Amino acid sequence: MNLKDYIANVPNYPIEGIQFKDITPLIGDGEAFKYATQQFVDFTNKIGADIIVGPDARGFIFGCPVATQLGIGFVPVRKPNKLPREVISYSYDLEYGSNTLCLHKGDIKKGQKVLIIDDLLATGGTIEATIGLIEESGGEVAGIAFLIELEDLKGRAKLDKYEVISLMTY
Ligand code: AMP
Repeated sequence: MNLKDYIANVPNYPIEGIQFKDITPLIGDGEAFKYATQQFVDFTNKIGADIIVGPDARGFIFGCPVATQLGIGFVPVRKPNKLPREVISYSYDLEYGSNTLCLHKGDIKKGQKVLIIDDLLATGGTIEATIGLIEESGGEVAGIAFLIELEDLKGRAKLDKYEVISLMTY
C-alpha cells in the first residue's frame, strides 16, 4: 500500500508558503489507517516500548490505536490548561513567539521505556519538548515514530540520539 495516496497536500494553509499535509483522508480509510497502525505496532514491538506518548492533538489519533492493539498505556502531552492535575511544562521557541507543552506529573514512571508517536516531523520543536518532559519524568525514550517527515526542515538533526522511523518522507 502506498500511504502517500492518502495524504492531501494543501498549498498555502494555514499561511502563505506552507504545504500542509492533511492526514484526514488516511484516517478516513479503514485499510490505510490499519496499515499505518500496523507499521507503528511492529516498531513498538521491535524496540520493546511499554508505554506510548502522543503530543496534542494528532499524536492522539495515531498513538491510541497502537496502545490498544498492544494492551499498553497511552499518555497525552497537551497544550497548557488542558490537563487537570499537577503538570510539568516545557517551553520552546518558534520562529515567532513560543509554545508550551505539559505532562501530568507521575504519568511517566522512572525507567519506563517510552515510544513517542506523532503525525508529522517538521522543525522538531514539538518532539524536543515531548522528549524533555519524558526525560524529566525519569522515562527512557526508546523510540520515536512519525507518519510523515518533512526532510527539508531538518527536524531529525535534533533527534540524533534516538531511534526514529517515518512512514513517509517528503
Ligand atoms: P514541529 O514542531 O515543527 O516539528 O511541527 C510539528 C507539528 O506541527 C506536527 O505534529 C504537525 O501537527 C504540525 N505541522 C507542522 N508542519 C506541518 C505541515 N506542513 N503539514 C501538516 N502539519 C504540520
